Amino acid sequence: MDKNEQLSVVIPVYNEEDNLQALMERLLPVLQQTGKSFEIIFIDDGSRDNSLPILKSFIKYEQVKVLELTRNYGQHAAIMAGFSVSSGDIVVTMDADLQNPPEEIPALLAAMEEGNFDVVGTIRKGRKDSLFRILPSKIVNMVARKITGVSMRDWGCMLRAYRRPVVERMISCHEHSTFIPALATVFGKRITEIEVRHEERHGGKSSYPLRKLINLQFDLVASFSNFPIKMIMYGGILLSLLGVCFGAFLVIARLLYGAIWAAQGVFTLFAVLFVFIGMQFFALGLIGEYIGRIFREVRKRPEYVIERIYSARGTK
Ligand code: UDP
Ligand code: MG
Repeated sequence: MDKNEQLSVVIPVYNEEDNLQALMERLLPVLQQTGKSFEIIFIDDGSRDNSLPILKSFIKYEQVKVLELTRNYGQHAAIMAGFSVSSGDIVVTMDADLQNPPEEIPALLAAMEEGNFDVVGTIRKGRKDSLFRILPSKIVNMVARKITGVSMRDWGCMLRAYRRPVVERMISCHEHSTFIPALATVFGKRITEIEVRHEERHGGKSSYPLRKLINLQFDLVASFSNFPIKMIMYGGILLSLLGVCFGAFLVIARLLYGAIWAAQGVFTLFAVLFVFIGMQFFALGLIGEYIGRIFREVRKRPEYVIERIYSARGTK
């Protein structure tokens, strides 16, 4: 990294009161040691605990900016809000719960410098999460690889570095429910991954219950491909072919064995009908999901609203 290049660190915060002090104590020395000018942007994503007052106390450091969002918009929208006020040539994102050790940032920057990469991702070595949390991630990783065609191994780890142009292009997207690591692959040409340590959550608990994870997974699939709609189409074609074959079979069987056989087959027909009805509901639901997304985009509501920005230079 060029000495003159500025660094922005973007950290979304949602109910992290137990972790912020420790995070700051570890992050600040690491950034100071890089010898570069830097800024730290905290985004309070509508926390319900003491996070915001703690963050506000950090603006005694001139490098710290605190964004207060009007409500909880979700991790990725919060990061986007952070991007929008960042000014660094290189922007690093990380979690506030200290699962991403700040001490790995220099390695991230070194990797970016070395290969002149646009995006540097990370692979969590010895991941410290429950199996319940790791399994969904495995699926996310698989899907993300298929959809983006980029063979990154770990998409979930938010300790990542992006160059300014990639960040600018992501900001200009104004997409709702996006998945930043996947979005970045659309705009970054030279992408790499390095291994980083992963730690236990410092305090508090994860804000990703299964429901949110499934949502995120859908964001990834639906925002980046029409693969599900295609699958339905193919499934539909296959099912109707099967239906035609089955109908033909019923006609032949009736001709061969008479009407009695066909009457006894009523329940088979019911079974067939149920399969079709089930498929239709599934298809409708999925199409509804897309329409819901179109609806949200059409309304053109902002994907986040910044209430206030606090910094040593005053409140905006
Ligand atoms: N986060 C956020 N908004 C949310 C949920 C999470 O800004 O609605 C932040 C959270 O404070 C943390 C990061 O996103 O800095 C990752 O969240 P968490 O640690 O709960 O996720 P996990 O590590 O379980 O994937
Ligand atoms: Mg975490």
